[in-house]
Order: sequence, then structure tokens, then C-alpha cells
Amino acid sequence: MEPIHIIGAGLAGSEAAWQIARAGVPVVLHEMRPQVATFAHRTGDCAEMVCSNSFRSDDDRMNAVGQLHWEMRAADGLIMAMAERHRLPAGGALAVDRDAFSQAVTQALRDEPLVSFAPGEVTALPAEGRWIVATGPLTSAALGQSIRSLTGEGSLAFFDAIAPIVHAESIDMSICWRQSRYDKGETEEERTAYINCPMTRADYEGFIDALLAAEKTEFHEGETAGYFDGCLPIEVMAERGRETLRHGPMKPVGLTNAHNPTEKPYAVVQLRRDNALGTLYNIVGFQTKMKYGSQTDVFRKIPGLQNASFARLGGIHRNSFLNSPRLIDDRLRLRARPNLRFAGQVTGVEGYVESAAMGLLAGRMAAAEALGRDLPPPPATTSMGALVNHITGGADAKTFQPMNVNFGLYPPLDAMRGGRKGRKDRYPAYTDRAKADFQQWLAGQA
Ligand code: FAD
Repeated sequence: MEPIHIIGAGLAGSEAAWQIARAGVPVVLHEMRPQVATFAHRTGDCAEMVCSNSFRSDDDRMNAVGQLHWEMRAADGLIMAMAERHRLPAGGALAVDRDAFSQAVTQALRDEPLVSFAPGEVTALPAEGRWIVATGPLTSAALGQSIRSLTGEGSLAFFDAIAPIVHAESIDMSICWRQSRYDKGETEEERTAYINCPMTRADYEGFIDALLAAEKTEFHEGETAGYFDGCLPIEVMAERGRETLRHGPMKPVGLTNAHNPTEKPYAVVQLRRDNALGTLYNIVGFQTKMKYGSQTDVFRKIPGLQNASFARLGGIHRNSFLNSPRLIDDRLRLRARPNLRFAGQVTGVEGYVESAAMGLLAGRMAAAEALGRDLPPPPATTSMGALVNHITGGADAKTFQPMNVNFGLYPPLDAMRGGRKGRKDRYPAYTDRAKADFQQWLAGQA
């Protein structure tokens, strides 16, 4: 049987390769790293997580991304299986030891006899054969150009920002304390997964002043300075209003200062463990496009981080994605060239989990096609189906922007039409329905 080719061994491409091989179809994985670098990846491993080490909420009852985790597990997802194996305590979130995680994904694919690796950059879209393009937000320039010339649509460029990482030993624990918000978590380790830095009102005001005054990286001419709202740089949040951060990543709720339990902090900066050893912590929600020198000055104003040493500073990055509602059908095929499928962030989903989920789907669809079958997407009542539905039709092509999975993409529940139901009732009803419908979709492939 002719193999299916995948370009890009990131979150999406790795998952797609696994699904194809598991369906009994040979697959060739083309990856340009480490021969050709991107500014964000550090290794040549598959499924490298370039920024946060979190797959976000693992709550499959009250959260749409947690439900997506559930669906990927139900569909024998490689990314979820390896994430589970290298899980770190992080309250209700699924955080992992990133290096161990991507090494495990790489090894699992190397151990799979139907997967072969073809190192090197693919510089043009192939005319023949069955291909999945999973080249992500940092699609190489040559391939990006080839996509543009075929589709006539520019791959749009915009910016996210990377949060800085601090060496744990440099955090002053006589000021900070360990606690997950609302003491969330099953074990003591989970309930103390975060390090918290308390701020008085004066600390907060001084911090905001410094943030606003800091030198920022300028955009290059012709670049679009549009941010994805879920990943706004902190200085942009501060520009929107002095209180914005205090109601966002620096909110002081659900936390009690262990050194001073009677005094409520005015704001709190949280750090989350970034590796299994517990030697690195990332500053939660602190994506930034401040210049490096300014970053160290500004972040050292945070109480407890006055002597912080940084393993990595924040940065800005590009994101390439297609105008999928116009270009891609609900089997994730390019309408103009159906032998090409797209998967991952380049389809206009946003985030590790969503990207891997689109890889899972593209892999299953491509394998089914190779075996002479047609696989429709899961129903839009599931997290996976809601995402595909959104990017391939639900969203307006004119204003299309990358999307995280969320319950807003789900069709309303008939039983709940008319009456005003709160989230407590609606979300479990959504996820109950999603689980039943996803199981049925899977059963149809057996
Ligand atoms: P990737 O994981 O990037 O994989 C694409 C692969 O294709 C790469 O390995 C690349 O080397 C390869 N490739 C590219 N072009 C070619 C070519 N021509 N030939 C061969 N190989 C090629 N999401 C989150 O959920 N949380 C975060 O904190 C987060 N932070 C981010 C920070 C940065 C700097 C960036 C760029 C993105 C971030 N994202 C984050 C989004 C994240 O990249 C995606 O969610 C996820 O990695 C996308 O998965 P993917 O498989 O589509 O792309």
C-alpha cells in the first residue's frame, strides 16, 4: 500500500502518524528539525511543546478542553497517553515534563513499524500522493510560499508571546508560598503545585508603571500586530487598563498568604512547575514582547523574584494559519487539491490540544480513505466535532481567527432551550452528550 506522507512531526503530525499506523497504513513523517531550525523549538524531538508545559484543564465534565482530552484518550491518542505518563502535579491542569514527554512521543513513533522518518524540509506542496500538511504556526518560509501560490490566500501572520521561565532556587520562599488556587487537587503535591508571589497595592502600582514604561519589541514593517485574545502579552493587558491584570493572571482570589494569612494580597503572581525535577517555574500568563533587558528589570520588581534568574525570557512569535472556512472541507482536505489534508495549528485552531486533536482526526480520515472508506467528522456536539465544524464552516471566512475549543462552539441543548440554565447544569449536560456522541462516532469505525 502507498504510504501517507505527513509534513511536520509536531503535536498534530505525531498524532496523525500514530493514528495512521494504528489503522494499519504505512506512513512517512517528514520533519525539518534539527536540520532546519525554528526560533521557538529547541530540539529535534517530535511533539515539542514550545512554550507552556500545560495541556490546560483536565476536567472532562465542566471544561471543553478537558472533554477534548477525554475524546483523544477514547480514540487511543498518543499525545494524551504520553502526557499522562509524564504528568506533573498542576492542580486541575494536565501539565507535563516537556522533554520527557516529547522524547516518549518520538520513541513511540520510532517503535511503530509502519512509521518511517524522512528528515529534512519539504519546500513545496507535492502534486501526487496522499499528504497531510501539519507544519504548524512556524511553517517554513518556502512551504508557506508554496501554500500561498496554490491557495491564493496569504497565510496570515500574527503574534503570540512566550512566558518567561525562572530557576526555582532563585525564588525567595520567605516571601512566596506554595498553594494551588482554591487548594484544588487530589493530593498534597497538587494542592501546592503553584508558587505565589504576593503584592501590596503599592507593589502592584509600581509594577504596572514599570510594565507600561518598559521597552517593547517593535513589529517589522508589514507584520500584523493582531493578538489572539487568549494569549495577550501582559503589557498589552496593562495598556487596556491598570486593573486588567488584577482581574486576569494576577487575580488574588482563592489564595491565602502562608506568611501573613490575615492580610489579603492586592494581587498575586503565580508560577507553575515547568519540569519534573521542580527546578524550573514559568510565570503563569506572563507572555510578553518586552525587550530582554526590560523583562529582567520588570519581573524582578515582583516580590519574591527580586533575585530571580531566568532560564528563558519571554518573546514574540509568528503564527501561520489558513483561511480554513474558505479553503478546507469537513474532511480537512484542501478543496483545490483534495490529495492534501491540513492538520494542527495551521488549520486555524489554537493550542497544543486542539492541534493534536486535528492531527488525530486528519490521520484517521486519511487512513480511512487509503482503505477505501469515507470517515465523516465527529458530530458538532463533541469537542472535536465542534472545532472542525467551526474551522471548516461555522466561522465567518472574512473575519476568521484561530480558535480554542470552548462550549460556545457547541450546539445548544434542546432540553435547555427556553429556560435560562446556569453553567453548573449546562456544562455537564454538554459533556454527557459529547461523550455519548463521540462513543457512537468511534463505534461506527469499528
Ligand atoms: P508544531 O508543533 O509547531 O509542529 C509543526 C512541525 O512542522 C514542527 O516540528 C516544524 O519543525 C515542522 N515544519 C515546519 N515546516 C516544515 C517543512 N516545510 N518541512 C518539514 N517540517 C516542517 N499552544 C499552547 O497550547 N500553549 C502554549 O503555551 C503555546 N505557546 C506557543 C508559543 C510559540 C512560540 C508558538 C509558535 C506557538 C505556541 N502555541 C502554544 C501554539 C502551538 O504551537 C501549537 O499549539 C502547537 O505546537 C501546534 O501544533 P502543530 O503540530 O500544528 O505545530
